[in-house]
Parts: sequence; C-alpha cells; structure tokens
Amino acid sequence: MKKIIVIGAGAAGVFAAIRCAEANPKTKVTILESGNKVLRKVKISGGGRCNVTHHQFMSAEFVKNYPRGSRELQSPFTQFQAEDTVKWFADRGVKMKAEEDGRMFPVTDSSQTIINCFLNEVKKLNIQIITGKKVTSVKKEGNQFSIWTEQKDQFKAEGLMLATGSMPEGYKLAKQLGHSITPLAPSLFTFKINSRLLKDLAGISFPEVELTLKTSKKTFQQVGPLLITHWGLSGPAVLKLSAWAAREMKEDNYQSTLEINWLNKKRAPLLEELFKNKNSKSKLTNLYPQELAGRFWEQFLKVNQLDADTPWNQLPHKQYNQLADALYKTSLEVEGKSRFKEEFVECGGVHLKEIDFKTMESKLTPGLFFAGELLDIDGITGGFNFQNAWTGGWIAGTSLAHLP
Ligand SMILES: Cc1cc2nc3c(=O)[nH]c(=O)nc-3n(C[C@H](O)[C@H](O)[C@H](O)COP(=O)(O)OP(=O)(O)OC[C@H]3O[C@@H](n4cnc5c(N)ncnc54)[C@H](O)[C@@H]3O)c2cc1C
Repeated sequence: MKKIIVIGAGAAGVFAAIRCAEANPKTKVTILESGNKVLRKVKISGGGRCNVTHHQFMSAEFVKNYPRGSRELQSPFTQFQAEDTVKWFADRGVKMKAEEDGRMFPVTDSSQTIINCFLNEVKKLNIQIITGKKVTSVKKEGNQFSIWTEQKDQFKAEGLMLATGSMPEGYKLAKQLGHSITPLAPSLFTFKINSRLLKDLAGISFPEVELTLKTSKKTFQQVGPLLITHWGLSGPAVLKLSAWAAREMKEDNYQSTLEINWLNKKRAPLLEELFKNKNSKSKLTNLYPQELAGRFWEQFLKVNQLDADTPWNQLPHKQYNQLADALYKTSLEVEGKSRFKEEFVECGGVHLKEIDFKTMESKLTPGLFFAGELLDIDGITGGFNFQNAWTGGWIAGTSLAHLP
C-alpha cells in the first residue's frame, strides 16, 4: 500500500486527500496539520458563508480573475473547473446558489456545510488527519520522503503534497526540497485615505466609478462599485486594484495616488450632462447626478468650494468646468492599507516555472506535489482563490493516486 502524506488540512490539502483516496483505495493517505482544527479558513471564509467558487463556467473567462497564475491555470481548468466543483458538491448532497455578482455559496449560507461534507468523505475513505503536528523539515532519500515535526515525530511516504497555504513554514519546506519563492505581498485589502471629501461619509457607495492607481512603477485601472469606509475606501473596484497592484503597492510602502472618476464617464459627456441643468432654477444642492448620494454631493460641493445654494442658471461657465473636472478626476493620496475581513490572500509563493501543471508535480523533486495558496497564484475576491485550491487539489490528488 502506497503511503501518501499531505501537509496542511486546509482547502487544497483536504480536497487532494479525498480525491487521492477515492481514485485509488489502495493508498494510505495521512494529513498532518499544525493547528488543532482542520479547514480553519474554510470556516471563516466569505463571512462564515464560504464563497466556494464563481458562477463562470467558461475557463477562458475564469482565468482572467487571477493577477498571478492566469496563464498557468488554463490547462488545470480543462481537468477540473468551477462547474466540476459545483457538481462535486451536488453529488455529495451539497447544493450551491449563485448570487447576482456571480459568487457561489452553499444554499445553507454556512461554511460548516462544506466542512461537514469534507469530513464525511474523510471518514468514509479512511483518511487519517493528525492535528497538532507542525512539519518543520522534509527530505527526499531515494524514493522516499522523510518528514519531521516540531513534536519530533518522523513520518515516511512515497508521495508528498505541500498544501500549507500562506504559512511561512510552508515556504521553508518548499525551499528544503529545492524550490524558489517569488516575492510575497498581501493581496485583497482596502485603502487608508485621510481626506476631507470622505470624512463622516462611511457607508456611502457608488455603483460604478473608474479608479486609476498610480504607483512609482506602473499605473493600474479598474471600473466597479466603490464604498466609503471609516478609514478610506473599499468595495469591489478597490479590492481588485489591491490584487493587481499588490507587489507594486508593497514596494511603495502603500503610498500611491488614486484618481477617481466618480461617474465613470468621459469628460465631454459629463460636461454635457451638467450643462443640461444650465437653465434650471434649482440650487446645486438639489439637482445632481442620480448615481451620487445627496450627502456625498453636499460635501463634494463644499470641498470644491462651490456654493450649494447657487442656482444652476447662475453658475458661471468656469465653475461648470471646475465641477466637471472634479467629477471626472479627484486625486486622493493612499496612505496605507487595511484588512478586508471577508477574504484576503498572499500574493507570491512557489515559482510556477517549477511546477508541471498537468499533474501539479514538482519539476525538481519527483513525487512532490503542490496546490493552493502556497503557489504563486492568487485570485481577486469572488470564489477564485478556493477554486484554485480545488483545481490544484483535485489534480494533485489524482496524480498521487497513480504514483508509479
Ligand atoms: C478571512 C478569509 C476569508 C476568505 N474567504 C474566501 C472565500 O470566501 N472564497 C475564496 O475563494 N477564498 C477565500 N479566502 C482565501 C482562501 O481561504 C484561501 O485561498 C484558501 O484557504 C487556500 O487554501 P490552502 O489549502 O492553500 O491554504 P489554507 O486553507 O490556508 O490551509 C493551509 C493549512 O496548512 C496548515 N499548515 C501550514 N503550515 C504547516 C506545517 N508546517 N505543518 C502542518 N500544517 C501546516 C495550516 O495550519 C492550514 O490549515 C479567504 C481567506 C481569508 C483569510
């Protein structure tokens, strides 16, 4: 009986172990987990609801949501993609629902449903999970891996999978087996901005803005919803920017300039829209673009030194232009980052050139497999990070099941 060890009882590790044991009942699969609980991130994910995947079953579209790894994931998604995830759970009695924005959750809206489903499979397939075992050292001798834990246990296996997520110890283990790690940086965060324009407006949202982030090396753009928070800005457009610009923002110590086009319109149509008010006797404060909240508009006028009580038909031409300019482009200084509670991930990890994506096997150490966040792959928020874990886990599990 082939012995397989999986390090890490998170999304990728548990999924791979299940796949391996199912595809080849003659393997003995053991998961070593440093914590005292399994699937801890699954439990807290998606605000406790677990955003399992995204309702986009065209892989060519799906891969566009990975700032790092999009090219490499093309082939793995031909083996196991979002639709397969939904089916995998449905076959085990867990139904999914898609929300308007495409995020998919179990219909129970509880991450525990996902955990229970996995634990049922683990039990059924006789997979052994040993918690409280932090692996500190790994070595390959001949055809066998030797694995040592902090608690001084030693394990031996013919096949090894590293699924340690973004824990520092995991990167060390990958290095011990010859792999290199690309620069690490947090991804999926919100922006700290201290501006008079945003003061006391927390909770106000905008359906569609255009954001331009200028870092010292590169400029990034995103269109999408925006939310004012107590400390600055959040919402899908900011989170996406944080993912695409994760490395550049870290290099700049999270000091960048953010330009906001509040209505996501080009300047000329915007000016034309404002000019429609030209003959109105309404005051500036009472007549404004419908996409904007009244409280924001009032503050916007004040910060741009426009008198809210001026009737539109008395607004000088120069000030029309000034208003259009400010709506088209407001510059704010990003001063730092804050945590987004629903989901955050690490950008960077095991170098993708060192992995065979048909099998998820190491190109440097045969018999060693990887999946999940430990790799230099990360997605934007919306279920893409778990899908990376399921896809990689499924392929690695299949390969481990058929180890020569
Ligand atoms: C708050 C939060 C919410 C999230 N919500 C979502 C969401 O709704 N949808 C989504 O797609 N993504 C979400 N994510 C991201 C997602 O959780 C991760 O991308 C995913 O869990 C990665 O899976 P993994 O198996 O690679 O790593 P993990 O799930 O982190 O699992 C790694 C496991 O390895 C163990 N481990 C590490 N080192 C060792 C060692 N040396 N020895 C033994 N064990 C070790 C760890 O204890 C851990 O249990 C969220 C992340 C966070 C932090």
